Amino acid sequence: TPALYIVATPIGNLGDLTMRARDILASADLVACEDTRVTGKLLSAFGLKRPLIAYNDHNADKVRPTLLDAVRQGKAVALVSDAGTPLISDPGYKLVRDAAEAGLAVTAAPGPSALLAALVLAGLPTDRFLFAGFLPPKSGARRTALGELASVPATLVFYESGPRLAASLADMAAVLGDRPGAVARELTKLFEEVRRDPLSALAAHYAEAGPPKGEIVIVVGAPAEQEASADTLDAALRRALAGNST
Ligand code: SAM
Repeated sequence: TPALYIVATPIGNLGDLTMRARDILASADLVACEDTRVTGKLLSAFGLKRPLIAYNDHNADKVRPTLLDAVRQGKAVALVSDAGTPLISDPGYKLVRDAAEAGLAVTAAPGPSALLAALVLAGLPTDRFLFAGFLPPKSGARRTALGELASVPATLVFYESGPRLAASLADMAAVLGDRPGAVARELTKLFEEVRRDPLSALAAHYAEAGPPKGEIVIVVGAPAEQEASADTLDAALRRALAGNST
C-alpha cells in the first residue's frame, strides 16, 4: 500500500530486524537511507535488493520532494537509518511532518533503538526519562547543555562516542552531581557491556582505561528528591490545621 514507512533496523544484531520490517523492505518501491552502502549491505544480508536513495543531512531538502511525490504517485517508500530507529538522532522528522501535512499515509514499523535498549539495562527508574541525544563536543557548551538538564526530575539518556566518553562523564559529574549512572556499549553485539556506577567512578574508569571502542549510550539517574525540612513540614501542618478549624 502506498505510504511512507518509518522502519527500524538492527543496532548490531541482524536477528533484531522484525518480520514486519523485512516484509515492508521487501516490497518497498523505494528505500530512503542515510548511506546507500550501509543499507545495501543490510538488504543483501536478507537476500533483498531494492532501489535505494540517499536521504541525509546533506541532501534532505532536495530529496524530500522526490520522496513525497513517490508516495503521492502510489509508491511504498521506506525510510531507514544506518542503524536503529529513524528520527532518533537521525534524519526524518521533516519528511514525516511534510508527509502528514500533505495528507499522505505515514506508518511506523517499530523496532530496535539504542535509546530504549540502554534505558532498560541501566537499572535506573524508567517511569520518566528524557532523551537528550548527543551533547556538544566542546566542554564549555556541553556544561551549558547539562546545566539546562540539571533540575529535570527524570532519568537522562545521552548518545556518546568513545573518544569523548571520559570527558563527558566528568562534565556530568561536575554539573549534575555524582548521580548513579550507566554506560552501555556495543548493545546487541558480541562485546555488549553495561557498566553501572556513580558518574564520578565511571569518569575515573574511562579516564584510566582510555576511550572504549564501539557505540555508547550514557544513562544518568534523576536528581535526588529534595527531603522536606522539619520547618517546611511544620509550616505545612500548621496551614492544614488552620484550614480545618475555620
Ligand atoms: N537512530 C539510532 C537509534 O535508534 O538507536 C541512533 C542513531 S545515532 C546517529 C548513533 C548513536 O546511537 C551512537 O553514537 C551510539 O551513541 C548509539 N548506538 C547505536 N547503536 C548502538 C549500540 N549497538 N550500542 C550502544 N549504542 C549504540
